Amino acid sequence: MSNYRIHGATGEWEVVIGLEVHAQVTSNSKLFSGAATAFGAEPNTQVSLVDAAMPGMLPVPNRECIRQAVRTGLAINAQINKWSRFDRKNYFYADLPQGYQISQLYHPLVGEGSLEVVLDPKDPEGSTKTIGIERIHVEQDAGKLMHDQHPTMSYVDLNRSGVALMEIVSRPDMRSPAEAGAYLAKLRTILRYVGSCDGNMDQGSMRADVNVSVRRPGEPFGTRTETKNVNSVRFVMAVVESEARRQVDLIEDGGAVVQETRLYDPDKNETRSMRSKEDAHDYRYFPDPDLLPLELDDAFVEKCRASLPELPDAKRHRYEGALGLSPYNAGVLTAEVETARWFEALLTATAAKAGKGEAEVAKQASNWLISELFGALNKLGKGLDDSPVSPEDGAELLALVADGTISGSIAKQVLEKMLESGDGAAAIVEREGLKQTTDTGAIEAAVDQVLAANADKVAEYKAGKEALFGFFVGQAMKAMQGKGNPQLVNQVLKSRLG
Ligand code: ADP
Ligand code: MG
Repeated sequence: MSNYRIHGATGEWEVVIGLEVHAQVTSNSKLFSGAATAFGAEPNTQVSLVDAAMPGMLPVPNRECIRQAVRTGLAINAQINKWSRFDRKNYFYADLPQGYQISQLYHPLVGEGSLEVVLDPKDPEGSTKTIGIERIHVEQDAGKLMHDQHPTMSYVDLNRSGVALMEIVSRPDMRSPAEAGAYLAKLRTILRYVGSCDGNMDQGSMRADVNVSVRRPGEPFGTRTETKNVNSVRFVMAVVESEARRQVDLIEDGGAVVQETRLYDPDKNETRSMRSKEDAHDYRYFPDPDLLPLELDDAFVEKCRASLPELPDAKRHRYEGALGLSPYNAGVLTAEVETARWFEALLTATAAKAGKGEAEVAKQASNWLISELFGALNKLGKGLDDSPVSPEDGAELLALVADGTISGSIAKQVLEKMLESGDGAAAIVEREGLKQTTDTGAIEAAVDQVLAANADKVAEYKAGKEALFGFFVGQAMKAMQGKGNPQLVNQVLKSRLG
């Protein structure tokens, strides 16, 4: 499927990508302290003595953070290491009061796992690729330097200091910008289903270090660079593209790629060198003497497993199999956990109103959600989360279509009015007199009027141009402001035209 190639002056190149994703663990307090983690608080209002690294303070692991990381590991089918340990990664920086970060180098909490990406949404089964995940380890975040507050001074905000991160390290298994983007998007989807990270990339809850190298197809891996803290799927794809191109040009010009850390500038769409890559030994890693090894028992792991929701792949397969949705619709509806929740609430309400099974109304409900509601919300610049129409409102509208009270085209108008006014479908139909008419007298009158006004076309039709039938239906419906019952309009037309 993916045969992405970079065309260089001397031939074709392949790109190799591995991502290290930092995901902030959803928890009320930090990894080793009780300080709060809420986003957007005033600087330095969520800092305990531990986070400020006061002498003599002792870190205490936060059970919830460990639980969330284990649940995440289970969601990517990874090995859970029942024995793991924290290490100190020593370096000096003004946003790191301890002078070291507590991380896990030698014995991470989560070992080998994987996830599956879909590369073509129209063909979800035929375009999958499995991306290996080497490990997930748990570590502390650092504080934040604020350089833009004062012309001659920089400030430090320690609110983030000590917040729990999961570092999710992929194998170098991706081969194109699209694969890298799909991997990050899928990882985000899984984290949000699990509830272990909110996935808010613009708030820094998730950021990716993008490792890129190039090689001639079939050759061993080349030297990689690592572009730090890339905070959107689009930017990850852009980094891969521009960095691979830079490396190809460099090598073809007789140069060599140096292993280094780079930064991405979205305005210029290019990466630039930040520092040469440090090796693990530069950090003088050693086991943190303040913390005992983490030992998990089977009951804890099993509880974590039991607490997992239905995950996106399983849900997508169920939507296709048990509900009979198209692969495309199933993919769209499961891509965001909120969309799936909304759809399932719609399905339950629609089935209840119709007195039918969910599988019987699933197609109608999914088509309406994807082609009608998404489109209408899009026009208003809204999403499902701030939709003025609830799943129950949607079910009410669908019931009116299903029992023939209104036609499909009237339903579109009703939806627009629901979005504008916040009123229910039945109330709008009643108030505006939009009920579909089954009054044969009125339908016959409309049909006769249309046929009389189009005598030339009637002659053509009778001479064999049968495609005109649709035109007559359209005109008759128009004459009735869309309210004619389509079956009756058809019947009357057929009998009139002989
Ligand atoms: P280090 O120990 O130096 O941090 P790792 O082996 O842990 O290096 O790899 C870090 C990340 O870089 C991983 O996501 C991995 O998939 C990726 N990676 C490793 N080698 C390459 C390569 N040659 N090209 C692209 N990505 C790579
Ligand atoms: Mg590494």
